[in-house]
Amino acid sequence: TQYVYRFGGGVSDGGAGDKNLLGGKGANLAEMASIGLPVPPGFTISTAMCTRYYEEGETFPESVKAEVANGIAHIAAITGKQFGDAGDPLLVSVRSGARVSMPGMMDTVLNLGLNDQTVQGLAATSGDDRFAWDSYRRFIQMYADVVLGLDHGRFEEALEIAKEDRGFTLDTELSASDLQALVAEYKSIVEELWNKPFPQDVHDQLWGAIGAVFGSWQSERAKVYRRLNDIPADWGTAVNVQAMVFGNMGDTSATGVAFTRDPSTGERAYYGEFLINAQGEDVVAGIRTPQYLTKTAREAAGAKPASMEEAMPEVYGELAAVFDRLETHYRDMQDIEFTVERAKLWMLQTRSGKRTAKAALKIAVDMANEGLITREEAILRVDPGALDQLLHPTLDPKASRDVLTKGLPASPGAASGLAVFDSDTAEKRANAGDAVILIRVETSPEDIHGMHAARGILTARGGMTSHAAVVARGMGRPCVSGAGSLSIDARAKVMRVGGREVREGDMVTIDGATGEVMAGQVPTVQPELSGDFGTLMAWADEVRRLKVRANAETPLDCRTAREFGAEGVGLCRTEHMFFEQSRITAVRQMILAEDEAGRRAALEKLLPEQRSDFLEIFEVMAGLPVTIRLLDPPLHEFLPHEEAEFAEVATAAGVDVDTLKRRAAELHEFNPMLGHRGCRLGVTYPEIYEMQARAIFEAAIAVAEKSGAAPVPEVMIPLVGTRRELELMKAVVDKAAQAVFAEKGRTLDYLVGTMIELPRAALMAGEIAEVGAFFSFGTNDLTQTTLGVSRDDASRFLTTYVEKGIYAKDPFVSLDVEGVGQLIALAAERGRATRPDIKLGICGEHGGDPASIAFCEKTGLDYVSASPYRVPIARLAAAQAAI
Ligand code: PEP
Ligand code: MG
Repeated sequence: TQYVYRFGGGVSDGGAGDKNLLGGKGANLAEMASIGLPVPPGFTISTAMCTRYYEEGETFPESVKAEVANGIAHIAAITGKQFGDAGDPLLVSVRSGARVSMPGMMDTVLNLGLNDQTVQGLAATSGDDRFAWDSYRRFIQMYADVVLGLDHGRFEEALEIAKEDRGFTLDTELSASDLQALVAEYKSIVEELWNKPFPQDVHDQLWGAIGAVFGSWQSERAKVYRRLNDIPADWGTAVNVQAMVFGNMGDTSATGVAFTRDPSTGERAYYGEFLINAQGEDVVAGIRTPQYLTKTAREAAGAKPASMEEAMPEVYGELAAVFDRLETHYRDMQDIEFTVERAKLWMLQTRSGKRTAKAALKIAVDMANEGLITREEAILRVDPGALDQLLHPTLDPKASRDVLTKGLPASPGAASGLAVFDSDTAEKRANAGDAVILIRVETSPEDIHGMHAARGILTARGGMTSHAAVVARGMGRPCVSGAGSLSIDARAKVMRVGGREVREGDMVTIDGATGEVMAGQVPTVQPELSGDFGTLMAWADEVRRLKVRANAETPLDCRTAREFGAEGVGLCRTEHMFFEQSRITAVRQMILAEDEAGRRAALEKLLPEQRSDFLEIFEVMAGLPVTIRLLDPPLHEFLPHEEAEFAEVATAAGVDVDTLKRRAAELHEFNPMLGHRGCRLGVTYPEIYEMQARAIFEAAIAVAEKSGAAPVPEVMIPLVGTRRELELMKAVVDKAAQAVFAEKGRTLDYLVGTMIELPRAALMAGEIAEVGAFFSFGTNDLTQTTLGVSRDDASRFLTTYVEKGIYAKDPFVSLDVEGVGQLIALAAERGRATRPDIKLGICGEHGGDPASIAFCEKTGLDYVSASPYRVPIARLAAAQAAI
């Protein structure tokens, strides 16, 4: 097997299509080289090597050593420099590169190939002693940290002391001889901590770095990142070894990162940051605040230091041409890293840029309108899950804001929460149910769990492409970065700004769209659903086959659902109506009644309430189908559980406390999810379902009389396992219908159907369909009953199950297509065999999950039903599934 793939100097062993093998970075370096862009020569060691490295106890096969040597020879031939040559040394970078980018998660080593001899050569050939010694000290520092695993604090400390001793504040003030002394100091720190001298053999250095990069695939932070982003552990990373180019060779040199369009808003404008006389990582690390790329952006921000367009107009022009070239070549917005070495432009990376949901929408719609991509491609470009970011409220523009300071609008959305100053606390408080804002001087990959737990992130340092900004955008968390006027004391858990103080636990609000940081909580407003969102949704609606309904049980939910484009209600859970303050007493009286007559008396009080519920819903959903599910939960859920409540509830219900307690004890169940619930309630107390059915038909006729348009109620019976259950319940519903029709002197079309929530129901779907006119797959219960995993207790161990790869994803979030999916497919097939026009839908949580929706499309269901906020997600996912 070949493990090493070269690029640069007219050679490209791979291309953009080889991401799985070469990782994203390697594949795109090869692609850029092949289309003639200026890429420093190098080679990629494939992800297959990573897999083999782990299979063989973290060792390398002999064959790859020769391949790497050839790769180095390739670089040497093109650059005319030799690796380890004391006269004119070749230096390389060693970087990770997985199939998908994992920003900052894995290791990088720069300036590799420097030692006590080659540093002299570098000084001589560059004509810059300071540069050479600075490169060497950076190399030792990075190598000691990444490859040798030594405490990087010691090196930073030595650097700080060196500056303090000389009264300097900036690294750049240190002279060549200062840096030479620092190198000596660094080497002695290495020897002290590692018990061996710093490796002088450049080949040892190289193999050390390659091993470290492969090793970083299994680092804790990489594992956490993979878990959060569903990246399989067996993908592995590739390693890219590439000739160094230097952005830190004086004022005609620079390094930067850029996007071909604004990754935050999607605006068609080059967008990026650069630093003159700096090396790659300086920009991303957020140590120096970078300068703008374009004049327009600089002016808009009111910033002083010259933009690249102004400071290096010629190279900037070249760069802009490369941007356009890359965008047309890849037909997508690109995220680019570049370096300018003595006025010569080099491209170090390109990839499809991460973007906010808002930007994703705008870019997809714009590119389709520009003719760069088709509408179908535009639909496929937007991650349905990310729409969530857009559908949630933003700060009310009319509300007053107590603005503390302003930073960069790094990731949009508004968030309020309690201030916390470290990631562990953020995670702890979030787990306890608090909304928190994570406030850091700057974030590092170690903060990933805290960022995930937080509602929003605020940093004092770092630009729009700093770690905090990139990761927050990827996670969909609002973020304000680089709020330079903040003074943050993480140890004392306090931040100060303009004479004011924010302590841990104080409420703060950030606006990731403007960069504002505010004290207290600011009210929010609903988002705007027109514009690009409306356009893309309209395109999606044209191509999708699946209908999208909503799970909604209040008129407000129904209204929201309609605004989001729902085409009906797929699940109206009636029990929620029973919990309302005005009804709960009658519900309890019904439960506490000793006989049917007592129950009927209580139900009599509930009837008008239920009728008005349904009336409003039918009105809001005028002309659209509404599926109403009859009572489902076990009755004990409506009784009090706390000793303190008993007396009050007993008085309200008109019984004594002992009766209430006795009844509560009688209703106690060991396994309520498999207990007296669903249609089992209707079988034992038909009068409950009778009342609900009556309320439905009375309401439907009232709406028909008022508006002239009769709704078509779909009455749904839950938790059916046998045909007979459905038969009995259908008879109750039909009888109520006939009674209402006779009283009102008019009839109405309606359907009676069932949920498929039990494996038995799925298996017996053929005969159940003889009775039911529709099936709605209740995949919450169907998952619970098929897996034998309690939906209420599963979270305690499911994370471990997902970590160990037993289930690829939480089966209550994303349908277990392999297992539960079989039951759905089988029930659909058997149901259709009996009743070809049977309506099939899904109404479990999975109805709003894109992967599950793809399965529903494949299985030929008629509709999916999702919670109102997920309706747009479902519309887009349904369109993608149809393409
Ligand atoms: C289901 O079980 O999937 C369902 C929709 O019903 P509920 O969640 O109310 O049990
Ligand atoms: Mg259910």
